[in-house]
Amino acid sequence: MTITGGCVCGSLRYATQDPPQLAGKCYCRDCQRETGTGHMTFVVFPAAGLAITGEAKDYVRQGDSGSEVVRTFCPSCGSTIFGRPAMLGDVVIVRAGTLDDPSALDMGFATYASRAHPWDAPPAGLTTFDTIPPGV
Ligand SMILES: [Zn+2]
Ligand SMILES: [Zn+2]
Repeated sequence: MTITGGCVCGSLRYATQDPPQLAGKCYCRDCQRETGTGHMTFVVFPAAGLAITGEAKDYVRQGDSGSEVVRTFCPSCGSTIFGRPAMLGDVVIVRAGTLDDPSALDMGFATYASRAHPWDAPPAGLTTFDTIPPGV
């Protein structure tokens, strides 16, 4: 099955044949600033299988973990499509809201839950980690 998605204006699109590896929510301060909200909901795919069409721009910054995170966005509308934290290797952390069909995602866990605000707290029942899950 092909999974597709893209930015707000539609000029940056992506497609993959791979099933999602996992999904979750990140409450780190960079994700709060990137989204302009309290957290970023993500779905993880193998990087090798993700095909991109349209112009994309990268922003590189050292994340809370101390390793580099590349955030890829549409230069026309500014939507961030995915991030690639160096520490996680060959995966892309796709912003779940960019999926053409974001309706059915199985939430795995929340990272950096210690940074969450009362007005956007992790949902009850979701496994949370203060920073990143141990062993990552
Ligand atoms: Zn766009
Ligand atoms: Zn984050």
